[in-house]
Amino acid sequence: MASTIGFIGLGNMGGPMAINLVKAGHRVLGFDLSETALNTLAEAGGEKAAGVAELAAEADVVVTMLPAGKHVRQIYTGEGGILEHARAGTLLIDSSTIDVDSARAVSEAASGKGMKMVDAPVSGGVAGAAGGTLTFMVGGEDDAFEAAKPFLDIMGKTIVHAGGAGTGQAAKICNNMLLGISMIGVSEAFVLAERLGLDKQKLFDISSTASGQCWSLTSYCPVPGPLPTSPANRDYQPGFAAEMMLKDLKLAQEAAQSSGAATPLGAEAAALYALFCNTGGEGQDFSGIVKFLRGSS
Ligand code: NAD
Repeated sequence: MASTIGFIGLGNMGGPMAINLVKAGHRVLGFDLSETALNTLAEAGGEKAAGVAELAAEADVVVTMLPAGKHVRQIYTGEGGILEHARAGTLLIDSSTIDVDSARAVSEAASGKGMKMVDAPVSGGVAGAAGGTLTFMVGGEDDAFEAAKPFLDIMGKTIVHAGGAGTGQAAKICNNMLLGISMIGVSEAFVLAERLGLDKQKLFDISSTASGQCWSLTSYCPVPGPLPTSPANRDYQPGFAAEMMLKDLKLAQEAAQSSGAATPLGAEAAALYALFCNTGGEGQDFSGIVKFLRGSS
């Protein structure tokens, strides 16, 4: 059955995600601060909403894809925001990558207004958004997850219910903290091998079947050669940009501080990615950290 979906944040990710909802036959009302983004949606068959209030009042489902927690808090709980104008029973899906505390605060405010909400951050990047192949990590009550799933199925391929409110964001930052740390570890091993005169292909062949095996090595090798599909072979064009990794590592550190978890390697990874971004790595793939560690970025 076709629904009226309000979509706020029609950027690199939100734009193509909203268009996939249009293609699936839903009525999509879009809102963004950028006129260009609104026009792109309208050309694809969506409608431009005059503002957040108008969009929220009409929608059965609201999806948001915004830069950070402060934008999400403002759009949901601020004056003239979604919670003020949406009907009780409206389904709310926030797919932005934001801090866990903001996700939980907004979800609690929504349930106080009788609305179902899920935090549903994604991985898969712009290509996944355009192709409808994103992975969604979803936090929220069972009934909210079941209600959101048919819409997430249109925009993604793998939809995982991680647990209660905020656990979608928790899954995303825990995974990406592990990814950042493992990419640094793999990169250090290649830099040491170079100094020791060990051929990179030999290290790859040995470690990819030995106890050093991990995704950063076997699916995203940070040096050119052993794995032709990895960004290292195209001068570290992203891929997954280093500044996006830095954003997620900072979110992981915020969460570690507010929850009391000790994440010393996560802290070190955040510091190293900040240095890489500040010394020319911004805009490069996150696996380019190998150049920084080698001293050649
Ligand atoms: P983007 O900057 O391209 O898009 C954000 C959009 O939100 C912009 O069009 C902006 O105009 C709009 N916006 C900002 N404030 C607004 C407001 N108050 N009202 C209405 N519109 C507003 O960013 P993106 O790359 O699409 O990323 C969106 C989210 O997805 C981020 O949280 C990001 O971390 C996450 N994410 C991005 C990627 C990626 O590869 N780009 C991958 C996974 C997750």
